Amino acid sequence: MSIISKILPSAVIALTLSSNAMATNQNDNFNYVVDRFADIEVLRYKVPGFEQLSLQQKQLIYHLTEAAITGRDIIWDQNCKYNLELRSLLENIYLNYKGDRDNDDFKAFETYLKQVWFANGVHHHYSMDKFRPAFSQKFFKKQVEALPEAQQPQNIEVLTQLIFDPEFMPKRVNQAEGEDLIVTSACNLYDGVTQAEVEEYYAKLKSPNDTTPISYGLNTRLTKIDGVVTEQTYELGGLYSDAIQRIINHLFQASHLAENEHQKKVIMSLIEYYKSGNLRTFDEYSILWVNDTQSQVDFINGFIESYGDPLGMTGAWESIVNFKNIEASQRTEIISDNAQWFEDNSPIDPRFRKAEVKGVSAKVITAAILAGDAYPATPIGINLPNANWIRAQHGSKSVTIENITQAYDEASHGNGFNEEFVIDDYTRDLMNRYLFITDNLHTDLHECLGHGSGQLLPGVDPDALKAHGSTLEETRADLFALYYLADPKLVELGLLDNPDAYKAEYYKYILNGMMTQLMRIEPGKDVEEAHMRNRKLIAEWAYEMGKAENVIELVEINGKHFIKINDYDKLRDIFAQQLFEIQRIKSEGDYEAGRELVEKYAVKVDPAIHNEVLERYSHLNIAPYKGFVNPTYTLVIEEKDDEAVVVDVKITHGEDFINQMLRYSRDYSPLTK
Ligand code: ZN
Repeated sequence: MSIISKILPSAVIALTLSSNAMATNQNDNFNYVVDRFADIEVLRYKVPGFEQLSLQQKQLIYHLTEAAITGRDIIWDQNCKYNLELRSLLENIYLNYKGDRDNDDFKAFETYLKQVWFANGVHHHYSMDKFRPAFSQKFFKKQVEALPEAQQPQNIEVLTQLIFDPEFMPKRVNQAEGEDLIVTSACNLYDGVTQAEVEEYYAKLKSPNDTTPISYGLNTRLTKIDGVVTEQTYELGGLYSDAIQRIINHLFQASHLAENEHQKKVIMSLIEYYKSGNLRTFDEYSILWVNDTQSQVDFINGFIESYGDPLGMTGAWESIVNFKNIEASQRTEIISDNAQWFEDNSPIDPRFRKAEVKGVSAKVITAAILAGDAYPATPIGINLPNANWIRAQHGSKSVTIENITQAYDEASHGNGFNEEFVIDDYTRDLMNRYLFITDNLHTDLHECLGHGSGQLLPGVDPDALKAHGSTLEETRADLFALYYLADPKLVELGLLDNPDAYKAEYYKYILNGMMTQLMRIEPGKDVEEAHMRNRKLIAEWAYEMGKAENVIELVEINGKHFIKINDYDKLRDIFAQQLFEIQRIKSEGDYEAGRELVEKYAVKVDPAIHNEVLERYSHLNIAPYKGFVNPTYTLVIEEKDDEAVVVDVKITHGEDFINQMLRYSRDYSPLTK
């Protein structure tokens, strides 16, 4: 499994911002909230600084955003092989519907369609569970019959089963210990093969002596052809060829607008990879990409993160186009300039430290478009590339997406969360003043340094932690960040102006890990997603470790439970001890110890606390999950000497969720028949 490298927003993004944090925002009438349904809130985000870019940069971004949106169908198909057919059917019904739009069945249908849109398919983007429709099968059948001949679906039986039968393809990614994770997962990265067959297939390809292994399975679907396990490659002429062709066309146009020769090489190399499907070329591209630190505009486009694969191998297609926020990047530059100091002082066994930390390049970016697996729900920080050996030899690029975190913060302004869940005025005040900056610093430290820190002992298989690899890797990066947030070094470096500021993040972290993130879990269910497991693991384990000295207390006030942290210094010690052990598990590949920690602290939910959290949340009307619509970019073209010339790229923010989804399906659907 590759290093897992995206930071997701935690359940608690619910602060009132200090005037400090607001200072960067001219307060106009920008309307952040676009839509609200089921457990979802859809927001829009600003793209500050876009207007100030050069015309060439704006055009470059324009073509890269086209290359991003045009890959949308790929992620839908990767998530489940019936998703694209289902989407067409649901959209056709939606557009064709002539009855009363206030009718209960229709309203339920609309909510279901929005859920499917938001998840890029029929399974929830986070819990991975299949959605349950609240409209009747009778209503559905009637709408299908009303469709014109040309829109009649081919697979109506399967699609009906997909919508209405809860036993059919119930989960996109199954992580339950002891089950065949491939057979029981509905994702479309494998077909007709068992977990044992997949593991045997890749075990044969991997050589323990290969010091520069390709990312096996990253861009393939594994299936059986004539009884033989076979990889089908995502490439020009292979799987998803029609989408890849269009991506290549847009990338090619972008290459002519590159900011410099190096960036042009990056783009051309990516095109080569899409043409050949060769993972060696992908590694060459990744090395070029990680070395491009001069360009202001940057982008990800490809099969990247492997969370959607129960075995963590195949990359989900995604794209994020962005440009550097030069002013805010000073913060991450200070951190990466001191990377070696952080590594040398990390509370881990010296054998597991890196003697030399390689080029951690860190920046704060402004997202211009979110696409594929990064849309509508999106990470707030990214650290790539994923290949361990490239990270070790060439370093990695780490980013914090600040226009996204800012949108979260501003949209949640005054939602009552702190009043309901934070124990006292002192802590609330601390959070009001310092949570925005410490949250951002936590992301910076996690991404810039946490994932890149430490090393494996020679001969240890990077995939040794197997299905628990992502959770434990996120745990490691979070602990690194938590430990250093309280370090006087941050004040010394001018990153924080108050030695107590870190307490805001500590409090939030424990509160979130032990209680409030549970609002995302349905009653009776386990915690499954890697980042949620990792937060629960750290918080519950810290609670247990500090019990004898009452470091963290769960107090009851008027029938409600609150987190009370009695000793912040000791809590930092506990984080240090946890990091020591997690790094040992990672460096030695101690699967058994890792499994035990995950099973003990990260999975099972206390039903009493869970119910209480759900109950208290229900009065706040805060959506557990948030995501975004994109702005729209339009070329402004003028006639000059009988020639059409691009004179500007205009950005607009007016589009709502439904219209954006319908427009993308209409204009960017190379894989939909
Ligand atoms: Zn991470």
